[in-house]
Amino acid sequence: YQGRPARALVAEELKKIKVGDVKGLPKVIRYDASVYDAIVTLFLEDVGTLMVVDSEGHLEGVVSRKDLLKAAIGGTANLQTMPVSVVMTRMPNIICTTPEESVLTAAQKIIEHEVDALPVVRPVAGKEKKLEVIGRITKTTITRLFVELGTADR
Ligand code: ADP
Repeated sequence: YQGRPARALVAEELKKIKVGDVKGLPKVIRYDASVYDAIVTLFLEDVGTLMVVDSEGHLEGVVSRKDLLKAAIGGTANLQTMPVSVVMTRMPNIICTTPEESVLTAAQKIIEHEVDALPVVRPVAGKEKKLEVIGRITKTTITRLFVELGTADR
């Protein structure tokens, strides 16, 4: 490494850290839950984004604060009966990551696509196109890692 610029060293170390090393628990809601339930779940789980899954836990979509606010300020919708699947962003338009991907790549996806959270997924054996949600990476995950790296004991 002698003579390498410090930033290249940092980049090299960063690329070794995988999503699987830092991912958080998935926060999910079923596609047939109501918008009202999704709002309550946001508060109870203290998150800004929920992964929407089918009865087998396969990813159907993502619902964020703004999706829910949009439904709420519309005024005409009955939030108790409107299913969350109506307001979510749906597959295949979901930006995902995998445990093997580097955290740097995941962070780049968050910036590029202007989202707060990525579901961490793995393929489902025997079910093409189905993805199992096994975790999540958020801006908070990245910020926490940044602080850990910045305060690590030498
Ligand atoms: P918020 O609404 O709380 O600001 P985001 O900025 O993450 O949260 O969400 C903006 C939009 O992008 C919403 O419509 C949401 O459904 C969608 N979205 C959020 N995360 C993803 C993702 N990983 N892939 C695709 N779309 C997403």
